[in-house]
Order: sequence, then C-alpha cells, then structure tokens
Amino acid sequence: MYPKSEQAFAEARQFIPGGVNSPVRAFRAVGGNPLFIEKAAGSRLYDVDGNSYIDYVLSWGPMILGHADPEVIGQVKAYAERGTSFGAPTTLETEMAKKVCELVPSVESVRMVNSGTEATMSALRLARGYTKRAKIVKFEGCYHGHADSFLIKAGSGVATFGLPDSPGVPESVATNTITVPYNDIESLQLVFSQFGEEIAAVIIEPVAGNMGCVLPKPGYLQAVREITKQFGALLIFDEVMTGFRVALGGAQEKFGIDPDLTTLGKVIGGGMPVGAYGGKREILEMIAPTGPVYQAGTLSGNPLAMIAGYTTLCRLEQAGTYERLEQMGKLLTDGFREIGEERGIPIFTHSIGGMFGVFFTEESVTDYTSAKTCDFDLYAKYFHGMLETGVYFAPSQLEAGFLSLAHSDADIHMTLEAARTVLKRV
Ligand code: PMP
Repeated sequence: MYPKSEQAFAEARQFIPGGVNSPVRAFRAVGGNPLFIEKAAGSRLYDVDGNSYIDYVLSWGPMILGHADPEVIGQVKAYAERGTSFGAPTTLETEMAKKVCELVPSVESVRMVNSGTEATMSALRLARGYTKRAKIVKFEGCYHGHADSFLIKAGSGVATFGLPDSPGVPESVATNTITVPYNDIESLQLVFSQFGEEIAAVIIEPVAGNMGCVLPKPGYLQAVREITKQFGALLIFDEVMTGFRVALGGAQEKFGIDPDLTTLGKVIGGGMPVGAYGGKREILEMIAPTGPVYQAGTLSGNPLAMIAGYTTLCRLEQAGTYERLEQMGKLLTDGFREIGEERGIPIFTHSIGGMFGVFFTEESVTDYTSAKTCDFDLYAKYFHGMLETGVYFAPSQLEAGFLSLAHSDADIHMTLEAARTVLKRV
C-alpha cells in the first residue's frame, strides 16, 4: 500500500538520522515506517503513493485553517516576490506584534523567534535574568522543546521513546530543573516550601498536549499562579500548542489567568517556522538591545513567516471560529465514547477548542502517570487500521489530536465510521 514511502524512507535513512528530521515523525511507537507526504489541501494529506488521509496531526498543530489555505498561500507568494529576508525591520513585524498583543491578554510586548524551542529557551533565560535565580519547575509529561533545561521527564517524543533524561544534558543544568506531577498542587507547594527563594520560574502547558491532551483540574492553574506570585517566581505559560487554538487568546483567556511570560509557536506561524515569547513590558525590556539579556536571530521576523502567521490570525478573529472548533471536537469525542461503549473498549476522551485527546484506558487521565495507563498495543493496531482506511492520527497515543476549520462534519462522520470498523476488527 505504501511502496513509494517505503523506498523513500530507505533512502532517507542513508542520509538523515533515523530518516526523519524530528523523532515523532518516525512510526517507532506504533511500528512500521513513516509515510512520505507529497502535498496537502484542506483537511487532507496526500502521500507519495497517491493515498489520501483525513489529517488530525495538522503538522502537529499549526494548520488550524487547514492545509494550503488559498489566502495564506496567496499572501506568501505575493510577499516572496519582494524578497525573502532582509535582516532589517519591516512594518509587518510591528503589525504582527500589535496583533499578538491585542489577542493574547497578558502580552504587552513580544519578540519573534523561529520555533517553539527558541521561544521557551529564550523565555527561560529572560526569567532567570529578571529574577536573578537559577532553578525552574516543570511538570512531568510536559514538553517545552528540546533545550537542555527542559529535557527532564519531558513529554512528546521524549515520552514516546521512553527517554526520561537525554544524554548530552549536563548534570549541572539538570540539577536546576525540578519536576513535579501535573495537576497536583500539593507537590508544587512542597517544592516551593523547600526551594521557593531559588525558583526563577514555573513553566507549564496550561492544557497539556504532549502526554496526549490533558486538561487542568478546576482551580489548578489559579493555584499555580498564586504560589508563583507569593514566592516572586515568574509564571511562564507555554502556549506553543494552546495559543490561538483553545481560544483566540489562548488558554490564559479561556481560564482567566494572567501569566508573566507566554511562549507561542505553531499557529502563530500559519505553517511557517515561527515562535514568539512575550509578556509584561517591564520584563521584556530586559532583552537586548534595551536590556542585558541576550537573544537574537538572523531570520527572526522573516517576512514570509510573518505574513503567513498574520493572515492566519486575522482569519481566526472571524466570528464563530472557536465555536466551530469546539463543536467538531465534541462531535468527534462523543462519537469515540459511543463507539467505546458499543465495542466494550474503555476510551477516555475529551476536547477543548481545536485540540483533543483519545486514550484507550479505564482511568481518568489527569497527569503523566494516568496517561501511561493507556493500552499502547491497541493504539498501534487502531492507528494502522485507521491509516488503511484513510485517516491520519498521530503515530503515538501520547500526542494531542488537532482539528482545523477545513474539517467538515462529513470528515468527522467518516472518521467515526472508520473507527467503528477498525475497533470491531481489533
Ligand atoms: N512547547 C510546546 C507546548 C510544544 O508543544 C512544542 C512542540 N510540540 C514546543 C514547545 C517546541 O516547539 P518546536 O517544535 O517548534 O520547537
């Protein structure tokens, strides 16, 4: 069914480590080899063998308008004609920054970078520079990109491949990262009672999306905000995944929390390589050239990336966007629940905005420990069964699913029919 993909992967492996430029693209967790993609449009992905798929990975989140959105592509083409990088300011960068400050409640000033990893890494340096403290707290199963300080009990590919701590991260760096379970405020309080005066920042995915999709318990984010404030530590909301996805203003708007710093990525680039970090002006003024904390980028604020992101954000502002995403998420997860009951397969599932989680487990998934109770063998069979019927889910259960405005109700009904058939077989 996938001869050309197989051939392409064999060749890629000769020149690229593991044949992929990012580990989660490999099908390690589910077995088999990755599909090579030729093109995509709307809700559909097309592989090099000519198979098509309803796509719930969406480039791991960015493609919220669907693939190859004509307006975004048209603007990128128009801007490309004028030159692709200047290394000098453009008014488009200001328009973009203004838009982000308008939309994301806590952000008063924002710096563009080229990936989510750069955003979190820079926000962390800024938090340390601002507080003059070294330690940080992160949560088990949360992923904040691949900078050294965050590769401790991280989620996403790190969890999928079972690499709790990466070799190459020096001990001296790792000792400054404290990890606690997600959704467990007592553990965080304990850490603060011990190290409170040394903690520069707490970084959190306000809705976790890298151990599957896990929602914060009611009042949890509020409690995290209170304790960080009490000890003078900064609260960094890593909204690389949730930004412009669970609500126009991200999780901070949805849950009414005012973080000190926010990191953004994925949707903000509309499918181009972009990240951003922003927050209170007083803190952002610490960044060079106004302040002493250094961070820079040859391609940062790149015009093609800015126009793709800006066009995407403007479209998301249209009325009904998040209602539509919520409605599709509900249709999909209600459907999964129903199928699970019909087939006698325990499924824990929920959605928020354009993000959803599906876990084959009897447990309520609230943290990394409960996420890992899911049935990985069943997911592998389900994943391949779905792929054969033309539906592309993430090749790991410990990843969130994504919806776009290009998905139709018919897509969702087709997906549920496929799941019904596949889960009968397995
Ligand atoms: N933070 C979060 C919450 C993420 O989900 C990711 C990527 N999945 C990152 C940071 C890193 O972003 P990037 O892959 O663009 O470096």
